[in-house]
Amino acid sequence: MKENIVAIVGRPNVGKSTLFNYIAGGKISIVDDKPGVTRDRIIVNANWLNYNFKLVDTGGLDLTDYSVINEKMKEQITMGINMADVILMVVDGKNGITDLDRDLAHMIRKSKKEVLLCVNKIDNYTKDVNNIYEFYELGFDNVFPISSVNKTGLGDMLDKLVSLLPRESKEEDDLEITKIAIIGKPNAGKSSLINKLIGENRVIVSDVAGTTRD
Ligand code: GDP
Ligand code: MG
Repeated sequence: MKENIVAIVGRPNVGKSTLFNYIAGGKISIVDDKPGVTRDRIIVNANWLNYNFKLVDTGGLDLTDYSVINEKMKEQITMGINMADVILMVVDGKNGITDLDRDLAHMIRKSKKEVLLCVNKIDNYTKDVNNIYEFYELGFDNVFPISSVNKTGLGDMLDKLVSLLPRESKEEDDLEITKIAIIGKPNAGKSSLINKLIGENRVIVSDVAGTTRD
């Protein structure tokens, strides 16, 4: 079965690899404050709310020359864009919009793919939220202020992302979820503990020993 592919695209140093690592759930892609550190395209199996997809860090497409996108680079970026079902275009909400953002956005728009524009480095929403508006000129409807370092704004963005995945990809419930059994003698407090853990009164708590039937 063909899998859903999500590609993270953006100019160097905007936080693509940091975002990738968060979604991938581990430090897999190299993060650095020097532009152009990620050398190769890195792909992992990722998921959000049981929806599976392949996540691509298009770091190999990082452009070290800010002033010009040459034909070869264009080809590479186009390939990355073409293999994706959904594109996360990442921009830097601290530094603002650049010509390279505009060029990339132009290439992405031409592909007619679903795009979420992630305005990263909005570390303090109240203070930084005005930084996002200039990025609307890139012409994308879905704009999400995020901070990959502080891990904020990511839930809303990922909810939208999985809603756009074209292929059925939801895992059967609980397949890979660890099962935990709570055991103990009657009246030891098992039900109270379970209710506390799940945050609701699923299990009847009573001081009469043997109340839980099921
Ligand atoms: P890439 O070149 O686009 O892959 O960018 P990286 O993920 O390597 O990040 C570049 C730099 O930006 C690193 O120093 C990161 O720590 C920093 N960075 C990434 N995300 C954020 C963020 O949300 N807020 C801030 N303040 N810095 C970030
Ligand atoms: Mg990178």
